[in-house]
Amino acid sequence: MRIAISGAGIAGPTLAYWLARAGHVPTLIERAPALRTGGYVIDFWGLGYQVAQRMGIEAAVREAGYQVQSLRAVDAAGHRQAQVSVDAFRRATGGRYAAIARSDLAAEIYAAVANDVETVFGDTITGIDNGPASVGLTFARAPDREFDLVIGADGLHSTVRELGFGSAAGHERFLGAMVAACVVDGYRPRDELTYVTYNIPGRQVARFALRDDRTLFLFVGRCDNPVAIGHVDACLAWLHREFGGGGWECPQILAAVGRSQDLYFDTVSQIRLDRWSRGRVALVGDAAACPSLLAGEGTGLAMLEAYVLAGELHATQGRHAEAFANYERRLHSFVVEKQDSALRMVGFFAAETKLGLWLRRLGLRAAQLPPIARLLAVRAFRDELVLPDYPM
Ligand SMILES: Cc1cc2nc3c(=O)[nH]c(=O)nc-3n(C[C@H](O)[C@H](O)[C@H](O)COP(=O)(O)OP(=O)(O)OC[C@H]3O[C@@H](n4cnc5c(N)ncnc54)[C@H](O)[C@@H]3O)c2cc1C
Repeated sequence: MRIAISGAGIAGPTLAYWLARAGHVPTLIERAPALRTGGYVIDFWGLGYQVAQRMGIEAAVREAGYQVQSLRAVDAAGHRQAQVSVDAFRRATGGRYAAIARSDLAAEIYAAVANDVETVFGDTITGIDNGPASVGLTFARAPDREFDLVIGADGLHSTVRELGFGSAAGHERFLGAMVAACVVDGYRPRDELTYVTYNIPGRQVARFALRDDRTLFLFVGRCDNPVAIGHVDACLAWLHREFGGGGWECPQILAAVGRSQDLYFDTVSQIRLDRWSRGRVALVGDAAACPSLLAGEGTGLAMLEAYVLAGELHATQGRHAEAFANYERRLHSFVVEKQDSALRMVGFFAAETKLGLWLRRLGLRAAQLPPIARLLAVRAFRDELVLPDYPM
């Protein structure tokens, strides 16, 4: 089948890889003019990590990633409040864990398909005619084209979802926080392989040292209503408003952020849909069921969904309605549970009150004790689902 995939992030190229392996002809359509760079660092583990192993990219992912040693919480004066080793977490995943820049993971996945699939960069789908025998697509730049199926892998603000499933309003659940991230050159201090966090009520800023003398900053802040995204100035204004009065390194971090070329700014939201397909249109990854950064495993879930969707299309010999139904039956409630447990993490990222901050500190201190770390890790990394085998 000719299958159009909107979005060359994590889910899109994973899906393209498995579809091509199964003998289909996928076409990736990416709005950005080239693969996106910069962004933020993710924890990559779980069933998605196993999908990466099956794609033969584990070694490349580990090489591009970082063997993070610990998470450190500091106070306004920079004094250590708690430091948790990530060893227990690494062991709980059986070593199937990497901390890696999202864009580096996306590049490794894309490298596995780049020679086998057509990719159209710098374009976007503008219309979907979801017919009984095929799907007609119109594009912002390219001429109209016909496909057998179209899959939205275009992230939290998915165009395919909007065109095929109606406006975002009913699907997006704003979780009451904004997130910003950026990478800057030459920042000091570095604290190699340590994820350093500083919290004030309702806000967290974190830094992590990257290779080539770069540093990643991640900011999460609570707010009642979403702040308009899409403008660097809006992001900078928000950062100064929320973190301008902060202690620790806030003043020098804000000064460094002002020099960054690549500022990521978005709402912390989930996507909740009863169905992930309509006719010949289906969704994967954040487009279908964004769990938000609070879940800490959106990439793994995106890869799992892409793999199972391709596998079901293969297992049903291309009977798409049956394949889409099986895909949803296998994964929908599993993913909704992940989304539900992510909601409980908002206090960890950005505790709202002094009491909340104190409890967070207490929790981190408790996690310094190996038995408690083991217990937490096993609970956090346990998956009830076994990755299905498909002969692709
Ligand atoms: C700050 C932050 C921290 C996170 N931390 C973690 C973590 O620790 N662990 C983890 O597993 N996950 C984490 N996540 C979540 C993770 O990044 C996502 O779940 C994952 O990237 C989803 O992959 P995706 O392919 O569905 O979407 P994306 O990675 O967002 O890719 C979507 C792609 O579609 C493209 N696109 C968008 N619109 C269009 C269009 N109209 N036409 C064509 N292309 C389009 C985009 O340019 C992009 O390339 C984090 C997220 C954030 C924001």
